[in-house]
Amino acid sequence: MPRTVLLNPGPVNVTNRVRQALMLPDLCHREKEFSDLMAAIRAKLLQAFAIEKEFTSVLVSGSGTAALEMAVSSSLSPGRSILVIENGVYGERIGKICDVYQLKRHTLKLGWGEPPRLEDIENELKKNPDIEVVALVHHETTTGLLNPLKEVGALARRYEKVFLVDCISSLAGDEIDFTPIDIAAGTANKCIQGFPGVSFVVFREKELERLRKIPERTLYFNLTGYHKAQEAGGMLFTPAIPAHYALDVALDELIEETVAGRIERYAKAARFLRAGFEDIGLEFLIPEGWRSNCLTGLRLPKEVSYEKLHDELKANGFVIYAGQGNLSDNIFRVANMGDITQEEFKRFLQVLKTTLTTS
Ligand SMILES: *Cc1c(COP(=O)(O)O)cnc(C)c1O
Repeated sequence: MPRTVLLNPGPVNVTNRVRQALMLPDLCHREKEFSDLMAAIRAKLLQAFAIEKEFTSVLVSGSGTAALEMAVSSSLSPGRSILVIENGVYGERIGKICDVYQLKRHTLKLGWGEPPRLEDIENELKKNPDIEVVALVHHETTTGLLNPLKEVGALARRYEKVFLVDCISSLAGDEIDFTPIDIAAGTANKCIQGFPGVSFVVFREKELERLRKIPERTLYFNLTGYHKAQEAGGMLFTPAIPAHYALDVALDELIEETVAGRIERYAKAARFLRAGFEDIGLEFLIPEGWRSNCLTGLRLPKEVSYEKLHDELKANGFVIYAGQGNLSDNIFRVANMGDITQEEFKRFLQVLKTTLTTS
């Protein structure tokens, strides 16, 4: 029986080298071994993306949302507001985090999959001088839309705003120009190809002074508290130790492959899959030019039930992903993140074609 191929947007198939990193002796995170590991991971994260001159990194145990919650809850000065650009589940999640922490927000609410217009963002910035932070989801995993990070970032920069980006599903999968970014959230278990359990925030060193003045709003997710502890070689709370060991190896592999090399590999996989989808006659949710390298949103053919399609594919070793919210009945998603071979993508297209033409 071939292995299960994960075509969901994380957790992803990992290499055997990453998997073997989970086989650990018993160890205590307050010992030098873990301290050294943490320092190595923090440095490799910056090195992989060539941002070590201006950025610093913080590790937090938990899924991607932990890093996102840390970034959002720790970034806004009292009395100021955040502009949330919302065109999917993850933009909504940023809004929800703001609400939980009672942060004042302005929201540019768009249809799911609808790209933001720069003039609308600019209007918000003009209308609301209290905005301090502009928040964007780079790859909106809800639909597979790649939001215009560079353009929105340039606008935020022009208005002297802090630019905060959820890069959780795009980091190492789609090109990211860090020039306009001040704060970004990422996770181990998507395009970085590690295991779930550890996520991270990277931010500009020059932000530290401003961030330190923000009152602590959360005990567990305070960004500057973690940063201070990690700079001193410590962890505030017990970390997900195995996930850290796996992340360290995953970063070695990423640095060996290079971020550009991985992006190219994913782009190639996406092109191959999309040609196959077209051949089968499936309809794309997002027009060409706006799609990420990492995930394709497809309309579910009218006569096909998602459950049936999912179960049939799973019986053949492939896990696809349902739509979320109001898209749950009419789309399905196929991610191409992780350590997946061309042979496996090929076999997936064959099985998908057979399943759709016989159902
Ligand atoms: C996966 C993902 C998250 C985090 O989700 P978790 O379930 O916490 O891992 C956040 N934002 C985006 C865009 C994502 O794709």
